Amino acid sequence: MPPIAGTRRRFLGGLVTAGIAGLSLPVLPRLASGQELPLTPACDDEDDITLAQTEGPYFTPDSPERAVLREEGMPGTPIVLTGFVLTPTCRPIPRALVDLWHANDAGEYDNDGYRLRGHQFTDADGRYRFETIVPGLYPGRTRHFHAKFQAPGEPVLTTQLYFPDEPGNESDRIFDAALLLDIDLGPEKTGRYNAVLDVA
Ligand code: FE
Repeated sequence: MPPIAGTRRRFLGGLVTAGIAGLSLPVLPRLASGQELPLTPACDDEDDITLAQTEGPYFTPDSPERAVLREEGMPGTPIVLTGFVLTPTCRPIPRALVDLWHANDAGEYDNDGYRLRGHQFTDADGRYRFETIVPGLYPGRTRHFHAKFQAPGEPVLTTQLYFPDEPGNESDRIFDAALLLDIDLGPEKTGRYNAVLDVA
């Protein structure tokens, strides 16, 4: 991953923060240092397109449309999973589908129903946001979310998202550092990932 991608990730991370604070995208977010960020991040490198990965054996189609997957009394560490869906030139994609599914705290998938499964569409700023729990571990894999991203009328991109500093990352056969979440342990644990789709 070239250094420029890291710059973009930090920039858009700032935008997410601004969005949560109720600011709209045209308002320039400020870094902690007080330095203003550019409106248009430099990121036209095609290497930055989000890597596709296998959907694995536990995808269930037709998940409910919802942003809150965690349920009252559900064991596990709460986490907000958020980010933007973008074109390769960093234009946000509104109304992009984001379908999320993952294991529960015990590392089990709900293969009979839709627990910890849901989809939503990005807002006018291309942003998605799920409230869920940190996925538990199961044998043979490191910690991960499964996700599908789809711009309107475009092919579906299926991938997985990973956690930094996870002991299982090194031995996981499909782990890829390009799919690491940017974890923020603020007032609420937040994992950020900006999906870049191969669309014009
Ligand atoms: Fe899995």
